[in-house]
Amino acid sequence: MPQAPTAYAYFQKQFVPLAEAKLGIMTHAFLYGTAVFEGIRGNWNDKEQQVFLFRVKEHYARLRKSCRIVRIDLPYSDEELQSITTRLVEMCGYGEDVYVRPIAYKSSEVVGVRLHDLEDDFLIFVVPFGPYLDIDKGARCCTSSWRRVEDTSIPARAKINGIYVNSALAKTEAQLNGFDEAIMLDERGHVSEGSGENIFIVDGERLITPPPSSNILVGITRDTVITLARQELGMETVERDIDRSELYAAEECFMTGTAAHVTPVVELDHRPIGSGKMGPVAERLVRLYFDIITGRNPKYVSWCTPCYSKVKA
Ligand code: PMP
Repeated sequence: MPQAPTAYAYFQKQFVPLAEAKLGIMTHAFLYGTAVFEGIRGNWNDKEQQVFLFRVKEHYARLRKSCRIVRIDLPYSDEELQSITTRLVEMCGYGEDVYVRPIAYKSSEVVGVRLHDLEDDFLIFVVPFGPYLDIDKGARCCTSSWRRVEDTSIPARAKINGIYVNSALAKTEAQLNGFDEAIMLDERGHVSEGSGENIFIVDGERLITPPPSSNILVGITRDTVITLARQELGMETVERDIDRSELYAAEECFMTGTAAHVTPVVELDHRPIGSGKMGPVAERLVRLYFDIITGRNPKYVSWCTPCYSKVKA
């Protein structure tokens, strides 16, 4: 991605130009994947000339949980994390959608695989970030030959950098085979999630989605969709195991994620899902979701944190 001349990072407890934020090659997180991260979207509202961070509080709450699981010390209050993030986004000054990547990591430069007796640090960078999947066209997916990592191996509820090798294997297999995205099963053969998205199906008046025990990352977009379905569409969501064949036969299927937003799955393993196009439930959710994340829906403004204190020229 091109680096804007105004790109900054928060690195080693200060704001620095992104180009100067460099880690040593012996950094533990690089050697062993011992880091946890978040992906937060900043959504550009052209009319207000403002970037709104979406559900930043919930992202940092999840980062804290991830830190606990891999024993990373995060010596910042919720308010500090939020204010560092908004300040960084404001310093960068992008007039477009951005992606904010906070990482808490094992920063010691030392060989030796473990989690204890190591230094920790925290950084954030921001990059411009447009659409990830084509929402209007929908995603053509395959069932991955890679299984989702089990909680007994690497806990998927923690957003651990090293775990993303699992997602990368699945995503590359899918794309090199001509699909847009992979859907992974868990070791029992139930649907788990996409390489970077949670999965929903529509069943009459309700939604169904896999539970956290299917080794999913418990998504913030997933929670957003569950809330919007209940409050705005009058649809409850059932969390239960989903079989692969239920996806083939579903009325509608869609994926949710910070990068993917709400993206319909229009085809799986060469079978059209539903009409083979975006379905009516997904369409309503997509519309609602975009209004909300760009700060246009007053009912949900508490989910949106503005970054620019002064209106951009
Ligand atoms: N699962 C995985 C593996 C992911 O990487 C993501 C993206 N963070 C999600 C699900 C969706 O989570 P969220 O809605 O919080 O972005």
